[in-house]
Amino acid sequence: MRLELVNTGTELLLGDTINTNAAWLGQRLAALGIDVARQTIVPDGRAVFEGIEEAARRSDVVLVTGGLGPTNDDVTRECAAELYDLPLDLHEGVMAWLTDYFGKRGKPVNEASRRQAMVPRGAAVLENRFGTAPGLHIPAVLGSARGLHAHIFLLPGPPRELKPMMEHAVEPVLRGMLADGGAREVLYLKSTGIGESDIVDKIQVGLEAIADLDLGYCIGRGDVDIRLSGPRDVVAAGAHFVRERMGDFIVSEDRRVIEEVVVALLRERRQWVATAESCTGGLLACRITDVSGASEVLGEGYVAYANAAKQKLLGVKTETLAAHGAVSEAVVCEMAEGCLRASGADHALALTGVAGPAGGTPEKPAGTVWIALASGGETTEARKLFFPGARDRFKLLASQAALELLRRRLRGIPIPS
Ligand code: ATP
Ligand code: MG
Repeated sequence: MRLELVNTGTELLLGDTINTNAAWLGQRLAALGIDVARQTIVPDGRAVFEGIEEAARRSDVVLVTGGLGPTNDDVTRECAAELYDLPLDLHEGVMAWLTDYFGKRGKPVNEASRRQAMVPRGAAVLENRFGTAPGLHIPAVLGSARGLHAHIFLLPGPPRELKPMMEHAVEPVLRGMLADGGAREVLYLKSTGIGESDIVDKIQVGLEAIADLDLGYCIGRGDVDIRLSGPRDVVAAGAHFVRERMGDFIVSEDRRVIEEVVVALLRERRQWVATAESCTGGLLACRITDVSGASEVLGEGYVAYANAAKQKLLGVKTETLAAHGAVSEAVVCEMAEGCLRASGADHALALTGVAGPAGGTPEKPAGTVWIALASGGETTEARKLFFPGARDRFKLLASQAALELLRRRLRGIPIPS
């Protein structure tokens, strides 16, 4: 199925309103297994007609948002009716609903609002529970006299009206159309600890050999989503291949981010984690507490920024600091082990690094970070990583790598050297 989106509204082009409808619809449609082939933004006025016409010539389904209101610049309904050459009839059901709506507010239905009860002949009315303008579905057959074969859906612009209408009235129709055309699926395999080009090296050629499989990559916050879409069995074959080639790097297959996965793993095991952070300033603990249920797995977290704090809170030795410096394997291990002792947790994660841009040396350039994981009864693992760049990015990637250390230990996956 080829689907296009037409978002109407001069305010979208002026930048006064951000086109959140397109983003939200894209996600809803992806979840249904429908790729949006193209998205067009048109200003109010005649461009709405042209936008719908062009999309309808290319597509099986056109979703139009905005311009159903009572004001003069709201012309979407009239444009769609003109395109399919359909007369506009006063719809008794909508009129009764409007009369009731305005009646409750002590007003008659004025002429402008009456336009919202006009329905192109043959179109289906989609209920709007949160506004006055109903949505409309103009079936594809009504366009055949004009040589057009697209289903056109007209949806209101305000997100709070659009979202429930999409979910309750449009998606069931789209699902019905898909059932006729074979079930498609979309799967997101979220990976971390591996760069996009290395992922491509591992899987691209193999996946391209699977017929009918659509492949996409999306770089996220310290992770990369591998998106597979196509017929269900084809997606299953692709996922099997990805798991074989790089399964250790796959964090989730249900769009959960790593902190959600780690919290879930700790809850399953009834285990606790504590954090000892220097360069990330609490971001690691913050990310864990972003997840509902964190109180069952995080008891305490330390921000030990100054050397004195590392000694006072975590028992890091003066000699170790003097001999190796704060950003070193020896210190990060003492931080993690001190944190484990102080907290009594099952696992302790520690980070110390040079966020930059100032403060780097040739041996420890800005972007260097040491990360350690200490767990009761296991050897402490420490890794040196390098994330040069802006501070917020450095902190994000460092906290991501720490979570990845713990995820691997909880899952029993080897930690790469
Ligand atoms: P109304 O009856 O409110 O006029 P409408 O269906 O005519 O509804 P528009 O006039 O196009 O819709 O938009 C109404 C409001 O909805 C806009 O002012 C804007 O705040 C919001 N809106 C419209 N389009 C979008 C969009 N694509 N993304 C996010 N918000 C939008
Ligand atoms: Mg409007």
